[in-house]
Amino acid sequence: MNAPDRLPCRTALFAGLLAMPAAAAWAAADPNRPLLASIVAGQLADTGCLPADLGLGEPIHAYLIRQYFPGLDTCGPQRRTEAIPEWSDLQKLMLDHRAREYPSELLVANIVATACAGRDHLWQDLGLANRNELSRLMWVNFPALARANTADMKWKKFLYRQFCSREGIYVCPAPSCGVCKDYAQCFGAEN
Ligand code: SF4
Repeated sequence: MNAPDRLPCRTALFAGLLAMPAAAAWAAADPNRPLLASIVAGQLADTGCLPADLGLGEPIHAYLIRQYFPGLDTCGPQRRTEAIPEWSDLQKLMLDHRAREYPSELLVANIVATACAGRDHLWQDLGLANRNELSRLMWVNFPALARANTADMKWKKFLYRQFCSREGIYVCPAPSCGVCKDYAQCFGAEN
């Protein structure tokens, strides 16, 4: 299926997921539900880089579907996502900055860390519809990180930069972003 064909499919899947009653009132009220619906719809429509279980492992993925979208009875493509050595560091970075409002923050941190293995912008690797959804995801789940991204750096670059500065790793080619030849890779539109 080529990219234009996937878009209507993704839109219909997203609407269908949100139309399903959640298993419980807490799941229906969780602000992550529409974000998870978008990620699940993207994976079902074969966009992004996430595996069918979103990187959660089968039992936890089954739990997510059971609680948030109990009517879903199809699986997305069974593809492999590259295992990255920094996965647990990225996950820890997010969990250390989680909002502590909803248990689903744990699921989201695992999914985002898995999507960091992709080769595109993070919102695309997550199978989201646009970058605004990823910004909302960051604000809902990891508000301290979202606040720290004052210059609106591309989200994957931003997470890696946070992780590297925490570890004392300095890989940037310039002392400051304003004079850096790689500026466009870290900032600017993510289309
Ligand atoms: S713009 Fe250059 S200095 Fe700034 S984060 Fe990117 S690579 Fe590092």
